[in-house]
Amino acid sequence: MKLTLLGTGSPIPAADRAGSANLVQVGGHHLLFDCGRGVLMRLAAAGVFPGFLTQLFLTHLHSDHITDFNDVVTTRWAMSPVENPLPVIGPPGTEQFAQHTIEMLRDDIGYRIAHHADLNWQPGVVVAEVLDGIAWESGDVRVIAAPTDHRPVAPTVGYRVEHGGKTIVLAGDTVPCAGLDQLVKGADVYVQTVVRPDLVQMVPSPRFHDVCDYHSSCEQAGTTAARGAVGTLVLTHQVPPPQPGSDREWIDQARGGGFDGEIVFANDLTVVEI
Ligand SMILES: [Zn+2]
Ligand SMILES: [Zn+2]
Repeated sequence: MKLTLLGTGSPIPAADRAGSANLVQVGGHHLLFDCGRGVLMRLAAAGVFPGFLTQLFLTHLHSDHITDFNDVVTTRWAMSPVENPLPVIGPPGTEQFAQHTIEMLRDDIGYRIAHHADLNWQPGVVVAEVLDGIAWESGDVRVIAAPTDHRPVAPTVGYRVEHGGKTIVLAGDTVPCAGLDQLVKGADVYVQTVVRPDLVQMVPSPRFHDVCDYHSSCEQAGTTAARGAVGTLVLTHQVPPPQPGSDREWIDQARGGGFDGEIVFANDLTVVEI
């Protein structure tokens, strides 16, 4: 299995970090997890066009994880020679979000159908909503969902990709919780979005301080990784955007959570293969 951290940014714009998105390539499938800012640029860098995506999974409907959903839908539709509906799996609310997006694109859909004689179908999105259990299965590749805790954003889910005895977990935004423990148990790779409360507290903005309420700190990610006896912990979606050369601080904080396995500080297009 090959994991590519497509976008490691957060809502805070950063010149070198696209929005939240991860690609897992396994058994000939291209599985995309979340589709934040700039996802198609990073997918192109990974050699994958939107028409090739096997399945899109959404962890939750926060804007930084879905803001380029419209770009995935439109570009897949406009570039595919035949009808190629986008399969989407996400928590309850995903179907309504997808339909609202199609509605937002109504004018553009009309322009393109009017212009191209060979494009005479609407963009298609096929949504399945999940909370818990097997979310997707094909051959010997399986994706399991479990509820996470990112309240007041709810419901939210994390995903566990299994293939040939190997496991990658995409936790999404969450504080430590039972569902997260269930997902990460014995995983080879655990990808966690993280915040640095020590840095966030230095910014004189109550709204920014709220960010710490519903994300895992590096230390908490380390503790979750240790409890689950995972092989590798990947730190992504770093808040605030990390200063160049500060990787070691983030890793040391995660280490302080009691985890003694490998820790990867993710940048855009970091690859982890297992
Ligand atoms: Zn979120
Ligand atoms: Zn987020």
